[in-house]
Parts: sequence; C-alpha cells; structure tokens
Amino acid sequence: MDIAVVGSNMVDLITYLERMPEEGETLEAPEFEMGCGGKGANQAVAAARLGSDVLMVTKVGNDLFGQNTIENFKKNGIRTEAVEVGTKTSGVAPIFVDPHAKNRILIIQGANSELTPNVVEGYKEKLKEAKLIILQLEIPLETIYKTIDIANAFDIPVLLNPAPANPALDINYVTKCTYFAPNESELGILTNMPVVTLEEIKEAAQTLIDQGVQNLIVTLGDKGVLWMTATQSHVIEGEKIQAVDTTGAGDSFIGCFAHYITKGTSIEEALKKANFYAAQAVQKRGTQLSYPTKEAFLHY
Ligand code: ATP
Repeated sequence: MDIAVVGSNMVDLITYLERMPEEGETLEAPEFEMGCGGKGANQAVAAARLGSDVLMVTKVGNDLFGQNTIENFKKNGIRTEAVEVGTKTSGVAPIFVDPHAKNRILIIQGANSELTPNVVEGYKEKLKEAKLIILQLEIPLETIYKTIDIANAFDIPVLLNPAPANPALDINYVTKCTYFAPNESELGILTNMPVVTLEEIKEAAQTLIDQGVQNLIVTLGDKGVLWMTATQSHVIEGEKIQAVDTTGAGDSFIGCFAHYITKGTSIEEALKKANFYAAQAVQKRGTQLSYPTKEAFLHY
C-alpha cells in the first residue's frame, strides 16, 4: 500500500449559476450536476488515478449516496475494506459555481462525524502498511489526533491538509506532521494574520515555522504554491491557464503531491507536478471528474 487516507466522503450537489439569489428570492439556475466528493475521497481519487495503491478509511451514510460512494471508490481502484456504513445520512456538499469559476460551498457532515478515534484504532494494523497517511479536517479533531499518534508510533509520515479551516486545531499535533498544507485563507484563519499579499502570506507562514511546523505548503490558487521550512522559502509560480471550475483544486494538488512523494520524488519536484496537475484539473468542470488519470496527465 502507498497511501492511507483517513477522511471524509461527501456527495457534491453542484449548481452552476449566473449569480447568487438574494434573501427571499427564487432564482432559476441553468445547470446542476451531482458527483462524488469530500476532501478525503477527492484526494484518494487523485492519487489512485495517478497509480497509487490507496486505502480509504471513512464512514459513508446509510443511504443510496453511501452505496454510490463505495462503488465510486471501487471504480477508481481504491481499497474499500476500511469503508464503513454509519447510522447517519451521507455527508453532502451543496456547491454553487458562478460564471467566473468562483465557488461557495456548504458542508453537512452526516456519517463523517461518526468516524471516531475507535474506528481508526480498529484499522491500526492496516495503517501500519502505508508509506504516507493523509488527513483533512472534515472528520472529528479527536480522530485526527488519534491518527497522528498512530502514524508517529509507526514512523509513518503524515500530510495534514487543514481544510476546512478550524482555529481549534492543536499546533502541537501539527508539528508532528511531516507536511502541513493549508491554502492561503486557512493560513490566515490559523495564524489570525493578514494574508492578502505574498509578503503577508510569508510572514504568517513564518510564525508556523517558528512554532515547529516541518514542511509548510501553502497553496495560493492561480499564484501557485509556497513551500517553507526552517531553512528555506520557495514559491512555485502558478500555471498561466484559463480556469473553468476550481472546486477541488486543493484536493487534486494534495493527491498528486502524495502520489509523487510516496514514489520517492523530491519535495520540490512533487510540488511542481502537483501545481501542474491541479492547473490541469481546474480547466475542466467538476471535482473528481476533472482529475486526470496517469495517462491523461500531461506533465510539464
Ligand atoms: P479548493 O478549496 O477549491 O479545493 P483550495 O483553495 O484548497 O481549492 P487553491 O490554493 O485554490 O486550493 O488551489 C490549489 C492549487 O491548484 C494551487 O496551488 C495551484 O497549483 C492550482 N490552481 C488553482 N487555481 C488555479 C488557477 N486559476 N490557475 C492555475 N493553477 C491553479
């Protein structure tokens, strides 16, 4: 096994609209699409499409969406032996995409809230086989801390993507992760600092490095990515492309980065590949649907 993702699955309910309705207004939207999503599942799918052997540890809902999600994992070649059916509904994410490819997203956690520390403890022996464990914040924080403890005990590197932002995230656990990858707004919320200019982003990032974060990877949308450690700071410029739908861009980036890191690629090279992979994904509509396979990935 290459990668274990301990995280969420959601059903994306995507509405493409001309503008957001005002309060009390009913508005027709031109198009609607449904797709499998959730940050954990998205990242697992991106890595698996590139050829990684991925184990998904997650809870689906006790409904049709849940069965569909399991089918989707199988279709993408992801191991489903640690996918459990919870008692709640599936997690759902109503997403609104405007004509400028900007999105607004709601999250209803559903069964994802039932992925407790005990569930992860039950898959300890399986997690031991992973070369990397990926985590996001769409599951309970205690489960994240438990997984980091398990990973540390087995000396397995952790990639923590603190999305969606949660100011309660304990920095003492963040420093136990080999890679910490927020986007710029998550960085702002975690540090309580302005993150508008690149200088401000670097200043905010530096405060995390000063607290012991190992490899800080800040995704900057069309501006690319900042990689900072205690000894260096490096920006990889974004690709100059026309974005169509940036939903799930960060997840495609994380999945691709994880794929190459577990193949022994250097951090800088893996970041360049992820930057290129995500830029390719945002040129197509949809979340997982836009993630290139190994064959379709153009490289740079
Ligand atoms: P989301 O929440 O929509 O999944 P995110 O905010 O977590 O995304 P971003 O920082 O917006 O993540 O994007 C992740 C990566 O995707 C960027 O670091 C970059 O490599 C690529 N990317 C995103 N948008 C663009 C764009 N418009 N042009 C080129 N590359 C982009």
